[in-house]
Order: sequence, then structure tokens, then C-alpha cells
Amino acid sequence: MPIRSRLTLFNALAIGVILLVLGVALFFFVREALLSRVEDTVSSRALAAAETVNSGETLDQNEMERLSLDGVFVILRDRDGMVPTQTIGLPTSVEDLDTLWNQALQSGQSQGGTIEIAEDTPAYLYAVPVEPMDGSARVVEAGQSYEGVHRTLETFGTVLVFVILGALLLSVIGAYLLARTALSPVGAVAGSARKITESDLSERLPVANPKDEIGSLAATINGLLARLEEAFARREEALARQEEALSRQRRFVADASHELRTPITTIEGYAEMLEEWALHDQETAQKSVSRIREESKRVREMVEGLLALARGDEGAPLKLESQDLSAVAAEVVRTARAVAASKLTIEYSSPAHEIIATFDRTRIRQAISILLDNAIKYTPAGGEVKVEVRESDGWAEVAVSDTGVGISEDQLPQIFERFYRVDEARTRGGAGLGLAIARQIIEAHGGSIEVQSKLNKGSTFILQISQPPQRSSVL
Ligand code: ADP
Repeated sequence: MPIRSRLTLFNALAIGVILLVLGVALFFFVREALLSRVEDTVSSRALAAAETVNSGETLDQNEMERLSLDGVFVILRDRDGMVPTQTIGLPTSVEDLDTLWNQALQSGQSQGGTIEIAEDTPAYLYAVPVEPMDGSARVVEAGQSYEGVHRTLETFGTVLVFVILGALLLSVIGAYLLARTALSPVGAVAGSARKITESDLSERLPVANPKDEIGSLAATINGLLARLEEAFARREEALARQEEALSRQRRFVADASHELRTPITTIEGYAEMLEEWALHDQETAQKSVSRIREESKRVREMVEGLLALARGDEGAPLKLESQDLSAVAAEVVRTARAVAASKLTIEYSSPAHEIIATFDRTRIRQAISILLDNAIKYTPAGGEVKVEVRESDGWAEVAVSDTGVGISEDQLPQIFERFYRVDEARTRGGAGLGLAIARQIIEAHGGSIEVQSKLNKGSTFILQISQPPQRSSVL
């Protein structure tokens, strides 16, 4: 059963019971009051008449009329019950009607009781024994029919029933309207709630009055929806990230296999050639062996690169130490000069003092080497490569700049991706892993790597790692 009907029904029942109890109580109260007024009137008239008789006076016409006002009747009886005076014509014989006079006479006490003065007409009768000096009267009776009382009660009862029914009807209608008005926001809330689906959690429930129960419920549900929406968005994001990581991994494996296949196929080809005929041709054999060595080196480098990336992905621990970054950079420059001095000049501007930072020496050396190797690789002979170590806002920086081929703006964002090479033709045997490894190393240190480049002008790669807090100069 809907709440609205239940509220209405409960209200109707409660008010109905209250009205019924009140009505019945009121009816009986009024009835009692009316009956006892009849009895009081009757007994006081009987006593007044008795007093008159006892004092020896006769009840004359006037007195009788006065005593029998309001439908009261008065009867005087002698010791045998005979009636010398009465104000009412009682239809049946005295004995049948009335035994009260006898009881009063016998007991010498006043007696009150109900008698039937006609069919279905009860009346109250009060008998008082009297002892006048003269005269035969021995009992004075007064009585009044209950008929008037019954008629009044009948009218009162009818009015009461109609009033109760009217009040009940009004209260039921009122309760129904009240419940309908109070619950109407529920319909609106339910309608809006139906529109909310997993795919669209942006819908909110209407809050008609935030201070009432339904409003506060809707506001609470809205809060819940907001949290759900947030959680769903986070889940979607996480799923997208997961999906992206998975597809990156798949791409990585496919790329790695593809990249490894080329040099291995080359090695296989030269080995076959050697096996089949080239061994006897000194020059071809020499060329084949050197290509095999070259390709093997490439495979080794690629495998090493892949291993480095895999270790980084796994989050291999860093051996962090607070040390001088410029010393590491100088070391890398020294090694590079030994190899590339004939091709181009490598300038190193050493800072005025040590640049202390917290880092894993081997890894950072590897990252700087990658940048420097690239600078050498992508700068034509006669060019210039510069390495600078410096401090900037709590960061230790290594900047590697060259006057090489540069990178176009649209390719800049991709160069840190695994296996990405700007131009296969111009890459000198690189697998496109270097910058990915360098970035992974720097990010593991909580640092960043940035690049500025102009096509055919040169590039500058800047890596930053944070410096430990400066020691106080007082200590
Ligand atoms: P690779 O092994 O091919 O050098 P990297 O990941 O080190 O792979 O570099 C990715 C690409 O970025 C390279 O193919 C190259 O085209 C470009 N690149 C990297 N460093 C430089 C540079 N100093 N100057 C110009 N291009 C560069």
C-alpha cells in the first residue's frame, strides 16, 4: 500500500477512534446531566410539596400549578394509596403504576425510582411520606416523564453522529491532501533517479527544500552520486591508463622483436655466406665478419637498453648518494672526447664549485652519456657540442647542446618514446631507446628532462635533479 494511503488510513483511524470515544463520553455525560436534572427537579418539587402538606396548609390550585411547572406532576395519597389530589391523569391503576408510595409509607423514608406512566414512557417518581396535623394525605409524590430527556438525547445523538462523521471526513481529506503535498517531492526525486544510469551520473535529484526530510535525503543521495561519479571517473581513468600501459607494453614487445630481428637476420645472412663460400674470399670474409661484429654490437646494445628499461619499469632500487654532479659530467665528457675528438669539439664548462645532488652515479652517468652520444651522433663533423653543469633554484642541471641536425617541433614530444627515431635513414644504428632510458632514469630520481631544438640549427637537452637542502653556513 502506498505511504500516502497508509498515512491517510492511519490518520482516519486515529481521529475516528478519538472522535468516537469523545462522542460517546460526551453523550453519556449529557445524558447523565439531563437525567439527574430531572431527578433533582422532581425530588425538590416533592419535598416542597411535602413541606407544605406537613405544615398543615393545603395545596391549592396555584400551588399545584407552580409545583407542576416543566411537566412535573404531583400526587397526594392517603394511607391506602387513594389519590385525593393529583395534577396528572394517570391511565392505569395506582397499584400497577406505583409501588413507591407504599415503600415510602412503610419505611417512613423518601423513595425515588423509575416507573412507566404510559407505554414506552418512563418517568422518574419521588415519594415523600408526610404527617399533616389534619387531612388524609400520607404520601406526596412528584414525577416527571423522561420523554423530554429522551427526545433531547435523540436530537443530540443525531447531531453528534453527523458532527463526528463530518469531522472524520474533513480530517481524512486533510490528511490525504497533506500526505500528497508532503510526498509530492518523492515523485520528482524518483523521476530524476530513474534518469540516472552508470553512463550518466551527472544527473542530480531535485532538492525542493533542503531543510525537510525528503530534501535532506535527496541532498544526501546527491552527495553520494557525486562521490560515485568521482569514483567512476577515477576507475575509468585507471582503466584507460591500464589499457594504455598494456598496449604500450604490447607495442614495446612487438617493436623489440622487430628491432632485434633485423640485425639477427643480417648476422644469419653473413654467417651463411661465410659458411657457403665467402671463407675463401679474403675480402668478403673480412667484410662479413666486421658486419657480423657490428650487428652483434647493435643487438647487444639493444638488449642492454631493453634490460635497462625493464629494470627501470620494475623500479629497481637506486643507489642514492649525495655527490658532485659536475665530476660525473666531466668523466662522461672525457670518455666521449676520446672517441669523438676527431669529428667535432666537445666543450665542457666546469662550474666554479662542486654541484652537489643526490643521485645514483652509474645511472646518471648513463643518462648523460646518452645525451652526449646523441649530440655527437646527430651533429655533422666539424660541429660543436657543449656540456654545462649548473645550479638553478635548488636543481642541479646538466645541459648538453649541439649544433647538429635538430628536431622538428612536431616530433619533439615523441623522441622520448621507446623505439622512436625521427628518421630511420639518418639514425646511425640507434634503436630509439636512448632517450627513453635517459628519461626513465631522470624520472626515477624525481627529476625532469627537457629539450629545445631547431631543425638544422641544433638541440639542447637539459636534465634536472633536485639538490639536497643546503647546509647552514654557521655549522
Ligand atoms: P637513437 O638510438 O635513435 O638515438 P634516442 O632515443 O636516443 O634513439 O633518440 C630518439 C630520436 O631522437 C633519434 O632517432 C633522433 O632522431 C632524435 N635525437 C636524439 N638526440 C638528438 C640530437 N641531439 N639532435 C637531433 N636529433 C636527436
